[in-house]
Amino acid sequence: MRKQLLIAVLLASALAITAFVQTTDATQNQAPAQTPAPAQARPAPTGYMDTPLIPGTKWHIHDDTRPRPAVITPAANPGEPPSDAIVLFSGKESDIAQWEDSKGQPTKWRVVEGAMECVPRSGYIRTKQKFGDVQLHIEFATPTPPSGNSQGRGNSGVFFSDGSFEVQVLDSYDNKSYADGQCGAMYGQYPPLVNASRKPGEWQYYDIVYHMPRFQDGKVVKPATASVFHNGVLLHEKREFLGPTTHKNIRPYVPIEKGSLQLQDHGNPVRYRNIWVRELEQYENSPTQLDKQ
Ligand code: MG
Repeated sequence: MRKQLLIAVLLASALAITAFVQTTDATQNQAPAQTPAPAQARPAPTGYMDTPLIPGTKWHIHDDTRPRPAVITPAANPGEPPSDAIVLFSGKESDIAQWEDSKGQPTKWRVVEGAMECVPRSGYIRTKQKFGDVQLHIEFATPTPPSGNSQGRGNSGVFFSDGSFEVQVLDSYDNKSYADGQCGAMYGQYPPLVNASRKPGEWQYYDIVYHMPRFQDGKVVKPATASVFHNGVLLHEKREFLGPTTHKNIRPYVPIEKGSLQLQDHGNPVRYRNIWVRELEQYENSPTQLDKQ
């Protein structure tokens, strides 16, 4: 009897040791136990419905039912296109197919060292796609060594709405010319706030927000506007174009639809790269904005 009891005790001990070893092995393969987060007393509200209405809208302040903005992925590096951008030139030879000359034929501009270069006297180029309100990023370099002076040096231009409105591109580094025609000018109307030009041959960039004009009964009710950053420096803030831009004149507004973006051939081999746009129609029409009741 005593012997049987001893065997039973030994067996029980062996089983206990085996179980301990197995538990220890399993524990070693698991991630270390984390300190449990302190329990939140109450989750934070995601919105409110008991607040006053925002004047002129149907939304309460912090309205929980107001649509949330679309989620996009921003670029990894400054200047690169975010996920909702339309890339018009990324440096690839094939990207030039998104552009055509003013007669709708393939452009003679060429791709050189990852940039699109104006071939003098080949004409303006325009996007095949038409745009209304846009955010535009575009990089440019004026020729080096520079030649010519005033408007004859490194002249090109970024045009909106089928060539109606020009933000000037010019080599304005140590190059005297009229103020409303220097680099970043809303050509013939508003000089840039400052001259933020880099040297010829150096890469520069514009970030432009352009809103096309709005018309009612054939008359302009909201002029076209531009906000322009040049190399990160503000040149214009929602400035209204007085009318379509041109040399030595200002043309009257006439009703226009969405149109191409254009780059000017002014006889100088200016280069462009990293061109992308975001369409901004949703800015006025988005339910996230102040829609009227
Ligand atoms: Mg020009």
